[in-house]
Amino acid sequence: MPKLAILGGAPAKSKPFPTWPIFDEREREALNEVLESGLWWRTPGTKTLAFERQFAAFHQARHGVAVTNGTHALEVALAAMGVGPGDEVIVPNATFVATASAVLFAGALPVLVDVSGDSFCIDPELAEAAISDNTKAIIAVHLGGRPADLDQLTAVAEKRGLPLLEDAAHAHGSEWRGRKVGTFGIGGTFSFQASKTMTAGEGGIIISNDDDFERLARSTHDCGRLPGEWFYDHFIYGSNYRLSEWQGAVLLAQLTRLDEQTARRHANGRLLDRALARIPGITPQSQDSRITRNGHYAYIFHYDSRAFAGVERDRFVEALEAEGLPTQAPYPPLNQLDVFTSGAYRERLSGAQAGATHDFLKDAFPNTERQARETVWITQNALLGDEEDMREIAAAIGKIGENACDLL
Ligand SMILES: *Cc1c(COP(=O)(O)O)cnc(C)c1O
Repeated sequence: MPKLAILGGAPAKSKPFPTWPIFDEREREALNEVLESGLWWRTPGTKTLAFERQFAAFHQARHGVAVTNGTHALEVALAAMGVGPGDEVIVPNATFVATASAVLFAGALPVLVDVSGDSFCIDPELAEAAISDNTKAIIAVHLGGRPADLDQLTAVAEKRGLPLLEDAAHAHGSEWRGRKVGTFGIGGTFSFQASKTMTAGEGGIIISNDDDFERLARSTHDCGRLPGEWFYDHFIYGSNYRLSEWQGAVLLAQLTRLDEQTARRHANGRLLDRALARIPGITPQSQDSRITRNGHYAYIFHYDSRAFAGVERDRFVEALEAEGLPTQAPYPPLNQLDVFTSGAYRERLSGAQAGATHDFLKDAFPNTERQARETVWITQNALLGDEEDMREIAAAIGKIGENACDLL
């Protein structure tokens, strides 16, 4: 029997995975062009403008508004949707804090709902059940790059007359029925933070096919200005969320690789689905025939410790890391974060909403728990490897399965 790497054996993974970020002369030249041009900020520059046009076109959207990061993309989008004090926005409980904190920044209440137990994306029926007279919008998160059920979500949104916003921070290039995500609702937001599948270290964008929404988002992100108007005319409340030319230049270069990289991660993800389904106790995040591409910010699978001699998930992850597989932590349920349990979130609210009980925060969220306590996330760079890398990932997990008793 091979010895587990965590117990001193040889790691199952011999060949190193591609490292992230990936860059070459394209980024170097683009940055030099900005340097030499002397136009280092967005307003007189050309790079960020070109990037937002190309990113939007790639996603089959008419408009793109580049912003400082993915959190700000959500904040600007919510402002453009008119979300404010007293409003409620429906948010999945299994996501990065920004999806909910952006709602709080608007002075509104994020109403957390559970996710589906196999996709770990927002459960459309629970989202519909959470709608109240104060609901102003629904936010879907495409967890790990896997699109949420956009058929059901758009149907609920349409039926109830609510805008759907897609937090696509994990899902650059992901598709539902051949159409890129971020274009199914009023808008889609993306992040270009260092771990994301395109990066300039930091950065974000909002895409949309809604002209009125775009106009308000663009104005909000640029101090309330309007295109074509005098520089010191400010028409609405706005702030400065502009993306710098340095980042626009890097992202233009990153975008040239996105199609190939997402195709590769999607194909490798499906190889892993087949290989891991053969290992007892491992259930990959569910796919769906309507998902024509999964951009795979991560490869997520459910881990059933009972098939691994009762070895706890965290111990399994340690063993996996020792075998040479890079992982990242799943998200803790938002309702368990200090900002909610301590009541600190109420400082963002006003009126009757600030003093209300918000009983949903004490609900059971069994599938969000399952996501937090029982899933394993392999980082996206591993999916940029080749078929042999995928076989080695499966072999590493299988090896731990066969030797799980040694970990007790
Ligand atoms: C990364 C992320 C954000 C925020 O993006 P930043 O660029 O880090 O501000 C929002 N939502 C989700 C789901 C994310 O993963």
